[in-house]
Amino acid sequence: MNKGSASLRLISGVGKKGPACFLIEAGGKRLLLDLGEGPPPGLMPDVADLGRVDALILSHGHKDHVGGLELLNGLGNPPVYATEIVARGLPESIAAQELPVGGQTDVLGIAVTTGRNGHAPGGIWLHFAIGGGFLYTGDYSTESKLYAYDPPSMTAASALIDCSYGDYRTPLTQCWDKLAAFVERGPLLLPAPPNGRGPEIALEFMRHGVSEIFVDDATQKALWRLGDIDHISLRDGVATEIERLAQTVKPIDGARGVMIAGSADGASGATKKLLAAWEHQSEPAILFTGYVNPTTPAERLTKNGRAQTMRWNVHPRLSDTVALVQSVKARTVIPAFCDRAQLPALAAALTPARVTMDGPVEI
Ligand SMILES: [Zn+2]
Repeated sequence: MNKGSASLRLISGVGKKGPACFLIEAGGKRLLLDLGEGPPPGLMPDVADLGRVDALILSHGHKDHVGGLELLNGLGNPPVYATEIVARGLPESIAAQELPVGGQTDVLGIAVTTGRNGHAPGGIWLHFAIGGGFLYTGDYSTESKLYAYDPPSMTAASALIDCSYGDYRTPLTQCWDKLAAFVERGPLLLPAPPNGRGPEIALEFMRHGVSEIFVDDATQKALWRLGDIDHISLRDGVATEIERLAQTVKPIDGARGVMIAGSADGASGATKKLLAAWEHQSEPAILFTGYVNPTTPAERLTKNGRAQTMRWNVHPRLSDTVALVQSVKARTVIPAFCDRAQLPALAAALTPARVTMDGPVEI
């Protein structure tokens, strides 16, 4: 697979939580991987000195991976590559080139293999036939009961891997017990992304017999799409269950039952209004299940004690990271989306691979 030298620049997203943005240079081509915004909101990758790039490749549609598209002007307006589902969520001005949800394709003469990332509708990991093989996972999860994950079957001497949870080890199966305790106490609002954890948690409620599930418009639409045009991102056999779920949920109408709504941080969408209305009342309970985005309502309500937090796994545990590195036989691992303080623990777990958070990296 050695097709000349290739290198990886870590523009943003390694060493601390921040927008995803990486550059690979191989075979005379410059490919940007993701172009996110935040966390925290408004933080953009510093691409001022990057110059022209030949293509932007998107792993999935979450804001911290696609929110920086306004920066494309300064990068020579390169073509944007994304899966059909992710492309649908992009601004209308972007005419995306299609990437497969799973399979092989070609980006500017470079062979690229993709697979489903178990994390979001249309979300993929990408393998590039450059250097000794290079894997970029974007965000991924092996544990989702809703979204399908296709383990990469090829080798990659270098791997840029989602390590959002660092050396965290608790399996998703234990998350339900914790969540069930909240549900028993009374009305509960769960701010969650409609194109991610929201439908996943709704499915879990239905499977556990929770009869009153209320959702906002965005989550309702996401459920309809998952049962229909987005079913390619689902695990086998889940589509009919999702169709039933889409028919069962009701619109949020006052503080009752379990309520799932976007956005996850309360900065936009239905939760912006709901959190403002309920912040100074005792009900419903408010539970954040993802990363608490600084400077957002999620952070404010968590800090003032009105809301509580628990993690609902949508990223890999340490055991997933170790298994992935072993299966692709990576010799160099770049852990992404976690703090530099996680480096020693990850390096110890992934030995003998070289683990680094400093670029540029020869791949
Ligand atoms: Zn994501």
